[in-house]
Parts: sequence; C-alpha cells; structure tokens
Amino acid sequence: MAAETYGAQPVYLDYNATAPMRPEALKATYDALCAVGNASSIHHHGRDAASRVDQARRQLADLLSCSPGELIFTSGATEANNLALQAAYAHRGLIIVSAVEHPAVLETARALTDNTSGALVILPVASGGQIDPDTFRAAVQQHGTALVSIMLANNETGVITDLAPLAEAAHAAGALVHTDATQYVGRLPLDLSDLDVDMLSLSAHKFGGPQGVGALFIRRGTPLPQHPLVFGGGHERGWRAGTLNVPGIVGLGAAAEAVRRQLGDEIPRITKLRDLLEGELLARLPGSHVNGAHTLRLPGVTSITFPGTPADALLASMPDVAASDGSACSAGAPSPSHVLLAMGLSREAADSTLRFSLGYATTEQEVRRAIDTTERAVTHVQTVMDASTGP
Ligand code: PMP
Repeated sequence: MAAETYGAQPVYLDYNATAPMRPEALKATYDALCAVGNASSIHHHGRDAASRVDQARRQLADLLSCSPGELIFTSGATEANNLALQAAYAHRGLIIVSAVEHPAVLETARALTDNTSGALVILPVASGGQIDPDTFRAAVQQHGTALVSIMLANNETGVITDLAPLAEAAHAAGALVHTDATQYVGRLPLDLSDLDVDMLSLSAHKFGGPQGVGALFIRRGTPLPQHPLVFGGGHERGWRAGTLNVPGIVGLGAAAEAVRRQLGDEIPRITKLRDLLEGELLARLPGSHVNGAHTLRLPGVTSITFPGTPADALLASMPDVAASDGSACSAGAPSPSHVLLAMGLSREAADSTLRFSLGYATTEQEVRRAIDTTERAVTHVQTVMDASTGP
C-alpha cells in the first residue's frame, strides 16, 4: 500500500490469498481491455491481440527460463492443477500427493480416484511441513505410479519443498512430476531449466497480475497425450479451448516482467519485514510459535499460533489488519486447516493460528502497525477467554 494511505485503510497482509496488482500489470491490462480483437482472428485487430498474447507468453517464459511453447494459459492455478492431474490420471493411473497440498490438488486427486484405495497415495509430512524423502521413495517405487504432485511452497505456512531429490526419485521410478508453484512464482527465483519437473502450475494474482488467469507449464517431450478439460476451437495447442482472456494474459505477462526486474530487491526487503513481524510478535506474546519455523520458507509468509486464542475471534478484534486464519483458499470452510493438522498441531492449536503474508508493496510502517494491533487483539481475546473459563 502507498505510504499516503497509512492509517486510512486496513493493513493488507494477505498476499497469499491475493496480491495487489502491480502498476505495470494494471496498465497493461487496462490497455488490452481498451483494444478490440480476438487473438484467433486473422485481421489486423486479431493479429494485434495475438501479438500481445505472444509477448505475455515470452515474458512469462523469460521469468521461468522455459520456452514460450511450453506454456498453456488457463483461468488460474486451480484449472492448471486440474489439467495436469486429470491428464496424467487418464493416461496412466496412480497419483501420489502430499497431505499439505492445496485443495485444487487434493480434491482433484480425490475426485479422480474416487477415493479408491490404491489409486491415490497421500503422503504425510513431518512437523516442519516437509515430506520424508525415504517415505517418498518407497511410495513412488510402487508399481505404476503415474504422477507425483508436490507443491513447491505451501500457501499456509510458506514452507518450501526440497523438490530436487523427490523429483529425481520419481523420475527414476518412471513417474511424471507436477508441482503446484502458485505461491512460489514471483516470490523467489525459479529456473525451469534447472528444476526437473514435467509440469508446473501458477496463478497471476499471487504475484501482482489479475485474478482469473494462470498457466500450466508442460515440458516439451513430456510423454503425456493431450487431455483438454474443455473442448472447442483447439486454442492453446489443443489443451484449452475458448477465446483467450487477452487482458488477463497481458496483465500476467506484465506482472511476470516486473517480477523478473524487481524480485532481487524485493526478497531481502520482504524477508526483513517478515522477520520483524515474527520476531516482535513472538517476543511480545509468550507462548506463541511459528509453524515451520525451522524449515526453509518463503520470504513473506508467517503462520503463527497464539495458543488459546481462537483465530476467528482474533480477526474480529483486529479489523484494521487483513490477515487470514488458515487458508483463504478453502473458501468458507470452517474446519481447521488440514495443513496444520498434517504438521501435527492439535485442532485447538490449528484454530488459534493466523497467517500473515507480506509482499512487494508492504511497508515497515504497515508491519509496525500490524504488530501493535495484533498484540492488543491477542491480549484482549485471551483476557476474554480467561474470564469466560475462569473460576
Ligand atoms: N494452489 C495454491 C498453492 C494456492 O495457494 C492457490 C490459491 N489460493 C491455488 C492453487 C488456486 O489458485 P487460483 O486462485 O488461481 O485458482
């Protein structure tokens, strides 16, 4: 948020739910919205739209170090995950995922396999949020594993997966590797020439592009027959029919380019702000702890448990900070976070957890205001809770 709005607006610390659009993406999207043209038409206007899409594809490919022809634009990461899992399952069978995947992976895998035992393996994670490599190796060596889908960074805790050894084991066992990199892209550098995955999903609105647009990367040569979810005019090399969302795609491309230029400066700044937030809250509120604290995490994310402090009551008493209880992605679901439960938290502890996620526009002033507000709110809710359970 711009410094001028300090004090007027709630502090926005929910970048993992959605990030504010980057100015470059906003302008590019607006310009594309003002133009007319279907990217499939061969006249001047159509060619103009197609060339904007081509440019966006190159901008995203440059960010990820892949080839533009390896990218399929979708309506977001949910669709990209569906496309990857459904294609692999239709083609080959057994799917392995982790217990902390986003519902866009977990529920897709469950629906596809009809919860049939043997068709889907959901791997546990350790208390730090990481998969045990030995358990993983044993699972992929099962006969006929088609696909492993392991996220690159978790949306609730920011915990980063050490994917290289897992991908190596999966490939050695003949499986394809998909990663949901929705929370990773735009937060840390990602080089697909060096990351041994066959497919990768991403979403523009997590890194400053518009909502409702994302992409699936499918590495050239991946032995996966085309498997569209939507049939029609054969757009996106037959993988995804439907008139392209030109303004959305153009906004995604502009956000990708802005990230490529600015990420180097953003990472240390955001890390410092996150550490300030985390350090102050832990110091001021004894008993609180960070989930995944000893694991490699994304720079801007912290998941903090304030024991005995229900997150819904907490958020209600701190309206001038926009944070999240568990994951905003599981819209409206009142159940405790499956991610935190999988990491070994009790139901009560999971229900007493807030996620703060910072990003490219977060300021120190905002973080300091969030610290003071959260401290007051936790103290208030704990006082109320103590009074209600008191003698
Ligand atoms: N995967 C992860 C890890 C996410 O955090 C999200 C967004 N909450 C999604 C997938 C779904 O992305 P989209 O909003 O683009 O459908």
